[in-house]
Amino acid sequence: MRFLLIMKLIVDAHADLAYNMLSFGRDYTRSAAETRALEVDSRAVTENGDSLLGYPDYQRGNVAIVFSTIFASPIRFKTSEFETQIYKNFDEAHKLYREQLMIYHRMTDSIPDKFRLIASNADLNLILDDWQDTSKSSHPVGMVVLMEGAEAIRNPSELEEWYELGVRLIGPAWVGTRYCGGWREPGPLTDDGRKLLSAMAEYNFVLDLSHMDEQAAIEALDIYQGPVVGTHGNCLSLMPNANTNRHFSDRIIEGIIERDGVVGVVPFNTYLKVGWDFKKNSRREEVPLSVVADLIDHICQLAGNSLHAGIGSDFDGGFGLQHVPPEIDTIADMQNLVSLLQARGYTDTDTTNILGGNWITRLKRDLPK
Ligand SMILES: [Zn+2]
Repeated sequence: MRFLLIMKLIVDAHADLAYNMLSFGRDYTRSAAETRALEVDSRAVTENGDSLLGYPDYQRGNVAIVFSTIFASPIRFKTSEFETQIYKNFDEAHKLYREQLMIYHRMTDSIPDKFRLIASNADLNLILDDWQDTSKSSHPVGMVVLMEGAEAIRNPSELEEWYELGVRLIGPAWVGTRYCGGWREPGPLTDDGRKLLSAMAEYNFVLDLSHMDEQAAIEALDIYQGPVVGTHGNCLSLMPNANTNRHFSDRIIEGIIERDGVVGVVPFNTYLKVGWDFKKNSRREEVPLSVVADLIDHICQLAGNSLHAGIGSDFDGGFGLQHVPPEIDTIADMQNLVSLLQARGYTDTDTTNILGGNWITRLKRDLPK
């Protein structure tokens, strides 16, 4: 019986932790509940919702690994006068992304009992071994650094520097970049984008297709010589008439599956139900967590197995408690997916894969030895 009580490990393939620390002063050693209590009526809540993340919640939910982003946005998408993580040019992007990366280094240097960088298989094994040790009451959360939007890379020759500092995944787009079309700004890969991809492959960077426009993603799937995933994106075919290029078409999902990658689903109501809009008083109850299970099931049906679906919560990435299914109070409640999937016939192995096993398999394959 004891075996049955052990929760599965979760890997969350997308969280903008550094962005939140710099933008709102969030301290992720606190629980989400503590952060909420400190932020009552604050700008953080108005702009980003109530926090869903924190070290105690990671412990409670068995969240062993978080793909931690470095991310800033171009000034043309500035949404608030207080916004600080905004760049006017590539030099500013470079500076902001570098500062966010240094935040992860400082964090993992100063509190290694709570957060540790994962940049190699040796780092990964240390984290996994620690979480296997049931005699311990707490474990360090492993952080894999993901660059979201690549304009901080002023020239492909700088990839070496980012790699040395621990970046292991790169998503060339957020909105459109000089490398490719993106969210809200469609378009193809550019010549600079092709050069970037060929340089990325030399380091075996994992290419994240999230936010890339369909046209650019199709070509990238075709030409990229390294590993390919989608850390955070949902299924366009379940969101007909969504009027956004932010979701993955079946063609892209099938391409990621063919490349033996993983797609992380995002439990954000606006990306789960067409027309759900917090500003128009949509209610959380309109989007049960079973809709997230529908997305996972769709990816598994396309694949014919449970080896390509995962979680990429994007929690605190522009939305919070107010904008997620009612079964979720914090990231720890992603464990509720297990019973929803079991009810659809998913086995114990399947749910272990989906909650975190699939991402762990790819990290073992893609991180340096
Ligand atoms: Zn994103």
